[in-house]
Amino acid sequence: MTPDDYVDGVLAGDRAMLARTITLIESVQKDIDPKAREVLSRLLPHTGQAQRVGITGVPGVGKSTLIETLGTQLIEDGHRVAVLAVDPSSSVSGGSILGDKSRMPTLSNNPEAFIRPSPNALTPGGVGRRTREIQLLCEAAGYDIVLVETVGVGQSEIMVAEMVDSFVALMLPGAGDELQGIKKGVLELADVIVVNKADGDTRARAHSAKREYDAALRYLRHRTANWKPQVQVISALTGAGIRELWQQIEKHFQFLKESGELEERRKWQRQRWMWSLIEERLVETFREHPDVRSRLPAVEEGVLEGKVPATQAVQDLLEAYSKRREESSRDEH
Ligand code: GDP
Repeated sequence: MTPDDYVDGVLAGDRAMLARTITLIESVQKDIDPKAREVLSRLLPHTGQAQRVGITGVPGVGKSTLIETLGTQLIEDGHRVAVLAVDPSSSVSGGSILGDKSRMPTLSNNPEAFIRPSPNALTPGGVGRRTREIQLLCEAAGYDIVLVETVGVGQSEIMVAEMVDSFVALMLPGAGDELQGIKKGVLELADVIVVNKADGDTRARAHSAKREYDAALRYLRHRTANWKPQVQVISALTGAGIRELWQQIEKHFQFLKESGELEERRKWQRQRWMWSLIEERLVETFREHPDVRSRLPAVEEGVLEGKVPATQAVQDLLEAYSKRREESSRDEH
């Protein structure tokens, strides 16, 4: 297939072609290959119009139930919805707890929805590596709402917060003392906080959790000045509160637009995207460098044994790395 085939297919909103283009971007071993790069460059002007929403929460909190209900509602309102996952568990266990289509049976059968399971552990470079690119591909294919799901583990939450407009933290109903254990970090990252399972036996506890979060938020400074995160109480199972939740997400999106913060946030995110690729590529070329490779086992052993400080090890390896590079660039001239 030629770049034209991919570009035309994605722009036509063809789901099969979108999936193949994602595979092209994901499957490249090291750097994105020239064909994939060309496809991305040509599609970039057709991106940016979507609303990007991140959803985080511990396993079992109700993320897939919420996405199933919310996604279906949004499609009824005329939207097209893409669902992506950044699943840190897949790199640890090889198994994935997110993005499995069977978790969202109605949505995954809806022709206006596109669900991309988390890539498996064998994806080079690990979890979430290509999610930014995939998000752009979905936008070029006409999905105007992109939901990026992750689980409550530090690094992946930050990664997702760095690629969306609004970041939603889903919480379990709990008694006050359970809230003590909640990381402050996620409350600071979240633009909207949601307590789920406000139904049946857990209804009262969900409302008392809301009061606790309201109180906790008074002492936290949000990363966006002038935005006060609200705590919403919902039942993803019955659908109660989901419309209000979306209104809140919309309100945040409007706030970002009107204050100019949306463009600022996205600018910064594009910069982060570039730097994360630079870091990734540099670490790769460093590890593959023949002198680094030959020295690495002994140097690493010294560090492991506590005989060589990491500061010295890094110095030695970087010298080996830059020396050979200088020699080869001299040879070239
Ligand atoms: P995820 O791991 O965060 O995706 O959580 P799931 O959506 O798979 O939900 C985990 C369990 O909680 C499932 O048994 C759901 O049926 C249940 N659940 C999800 N949302 C609600 C809710 O609003 N109320 C109640 N009572 N159960 C819920």
